Amino acid sequence: MTAYWIARQQILGHVLATSSAGDPFKELWNRLWKTKVPGKVHVCVWRACQNLLPTRDRLLTKGYEGKPVCLLCAHPLEAISHVFTKCLIVVELFSAAPFHLTTSLMLSMPFKEWMIEVALQLRPHVFEKLLMLIWSLWKNWNEALWENKSKPAAVLQCGAMAWLEDFHKARAPLNNMRNHVKQCWRPAEGNFVKLNVDGAYLPSMSHGDIGGIIRGPHGCFVAAFAHSIPHMCSAKQVELMAIREGLDLAVQMKLQHVIIESDCLAAIQDIAHNGESEFACIIDDILEAKNLLQTGLHLCLVSAIE
Ligand SMILES: [Zn+2]
Repeated sequence: MTAYWIARQQILGHVLATSSAGDPFKELWNRLWKTKVPGKVHVCVWRACQNLLPTRDRLLTKGYEGKPVCLLCAHPLEAISHVFTKCLIVVELFSAAPFHLTTSLMLSMPFKEWMIEVALQLRPHVFEKLLMLIWSLWKNWNEALWENKSKPAAVLQCGAMAWLEDFHKARAPLNNMRNHVKQCWRPAEGNFVKLNVDGAYLPSMSHGDIGGIIRGPHGCFVAAFAHSIPHMCSAKQVELMAIREGLDLAVQMKLQHVIIESDCLAAIQDIAHNGESEFACIIDDILEAKNLLQTGLHLCLVSAIE
């Protein structure tokens, strides 16, 4: 038994001992969901840990009749632990900086056990890079399968790290804005009226519901609307429709000095960027309504309206 193997037993033994009341992999799930990576990366890694990805060893049990060899390196059995810990491209990536996982790559163990071990071993900023690479490896594997093309390790690494950097940059202004978000609803002051809008989107049915309420000084009711819209493609689109509808109502009622509140940052950012969006037509309407109102339009972000 190698020293490494003993250390591994101690790590896993410790994890098992400290979580005897529940899932021994609880610490892995904690670290996985806490890591700041895109949602689809979380889901992909979680599915890999639960052996839910359609690797060829699993497809064999579901009627697949081809050879179970690895698509990328022709290893005889393409199982999840091979795809993410032993395939040639993986060894090249994970044995290099910043991971240096050479020793554990040699061992044969279920992928979930390998993951809890690296989750405990790697520093958080390195672990997030590992998650990004696992997702990229799975995407690469799919491209090899469906499009008959795959990328070399260096290209995969660059692509994954560039995406992670973009993800962190995109989150930074979001976090700053959230710090300034108002937590409860307040009536408009002076001669302003306040329009609160909201949109709800059901992706499974491509269906949206929009609603809004206009309130005057001291919160007195002025007008409201609510209805459904079919054939929607995203939550942002539904929220933009709600904003447009609310502004149309304000224009029809010849209201002035309107403050509009929405909890959809993506929609507000699109409007602020003057229509550089896939929903430019809706935003054009919103900007036109804003001109008709003849007063400055105050777009505010609220996280919750009590
Ligand atoms: Zn392979």
